Amino acid sequence: SRRWVKTAEILRELEEKCATPNTKLKQIADAMTVEMHAGLASEGGSKLKMLVSYVDNLPTGDEEGVYYALDLGGTNFRVLRVQLAGKSGIKSQEFAEVSIPPQLMIGTSEELFDYIAAELAKFVADEGDTFHLPPGRQRELGFTFSFPVMQLSIDSGTLMRWTKGFSIQDMVGQDVVAELTRAMKGQGVDMRVSALVNDTVGTLAGGRYDNKDVVIAVILGTGSNAAYVERAQAIPKWHGPTPKSGEMVINMEWGNFRSSLLPLTEYDHALDVESLNPGEQIFEKMISGMYLGELLRRVLYRMAEEAALFGDIVPRNLKTPFILRTPEMSAMHHDTTPDLVVVANKLKDILEISNTSLKTRKIVVKLCNIITTRGARLAASGILGILKKLGKDVFRDGETPKTVIAMDGGLYEHYTEYSKCLENTVYELVGDELSDSIKLVHSNDGSGIGAALLAASHSRYI
Ligand code: ADP
Ligand code: MG
Repeated sequence: SRRWVKTAEILRELEEKCATPNTKLKQIADAMTVEMHAGLASEGGSKLKMLVSYVDNLPTGDEEGVYYALDLGGTNFRVLRVQLAGKSGIKSQEFAEVSIPPQLMIGTSEELFDYIAAELAKFVADEGDTFHLPPGRQRELGFTFSFPVMQLSIDSGTLMRWTKGFSIQDMVGQDVVAELTRAMKGQGVDMRVSALVNDTVGTLAGGRYDNKDVVIAVILGTGSNAAYVERAQAIPKWHGPTPKSGEMVINMEWGNFRSSLLPLTEYDHALDVESLNPGEQIFEKMISGMYLGELLRRVLYRMAEEAALFGDIVPRNLKTPFILRTPEMSAMHHDTTPDLVVVANKLKDILEISNTSLKTRKIVVKLCNIITTRGARLAASGILGILKKLGKDVFRDGETPKTVIAMDGGLYEHYTEYSKCLENTVYELVGDELSDSIKLVHSNDGSGIGAALLAASHSRYI
């Protein structure tokens, strides 16, 4: 019937537009490398900000003492404390996770930070005997703040702009550490922020603590970003003192990458135009958790409208932006029941679409696969771009240095089809010879522990 013909047509068109053959991914990786060079050459030289993190030493494993971390980056924020015992590792760790009330994401900086500081105060009040803060010593904290920040030092930096659904205008241009410090004081928390880090930088630090071959960190959560260890010599825009290590961690802010090579569709354009940050974070909008489910909703909406996929009336809920979240999409994609009952239930519970045929459900799974495959393969091309920049994408006879990439984020952690596809694509792109020397590891909550480790190495007491 006409319905299926039109549905098939929309599906085929999507499949075509989302195609990511390896040749194209390699070109995108090259474009990423070019932008990395440009962003390192001068401030504002590229869409890729290539931010200097002021982290020129990653954890050694000798860190000792009680340290706190606060991780603010998307849907949830986490507070944690660790007792570090030098070479014996992490002796104890505790954490608490709190979701951010949506109205605070678009309110004032005062409201947001007061809320965070109040949660932190509760957490500090719970510190038990397993943690030993030497008498007379102030507690210290690593602050993971996962938005673009122009760092002024390891413990200060101004917010450049918001991403991922946050929009608090009075905060832009302000020092986020000063704001957190003010709020902590207000809540009676006696603590010093000794390191301000991006979550990618925290993940790199946490990853390195576990494995000395970690040189790249990638986050795939609500948003997406990457950081890596660069040679100080290769950062022309850096006019500060040359670090002893000769290295500097760079926060790429790769979410803002864009290129005419990216396989953009009408759905991407519409999503971008209607977003809180139009024209920005284009790469992020194709690959990260905040947006995959929304892209799926947009394709379903078109199928409902133009092909009457769900009958003559377009289901009302299908019109609501962001109603279909990526975890639900992931559940549908991983549905292994023969009748796709998970898909049926999700369509019913979220979109109030009942009585779907198996054929319709199969189409939904296909769409999940197209959107996710594109995202995961593009993320893999980004990783190839970094490997190329580091010269680690080619096999050199006689030497097989290991390159380990620390991965984290809810999308990577939970969306198996995504992470499998990402990993396979990285190996496809680098080729068989190299695939043994490149490894992706899941660095579970590396960003929080990493921030605590960086707080330790930048402690005022050492
Ligand atoms: P954040 O990026 O906000 O710091 P996380 O790294 O925990 O936090 O990532 C949360 C994001 O991960 C969610 O917004 C969602 O997009 C994605 N996510 C969480 N659970 C799943 C899941 N089961 N399947 C797919 N994506 C998920
Ligand atoms: Mg996070």
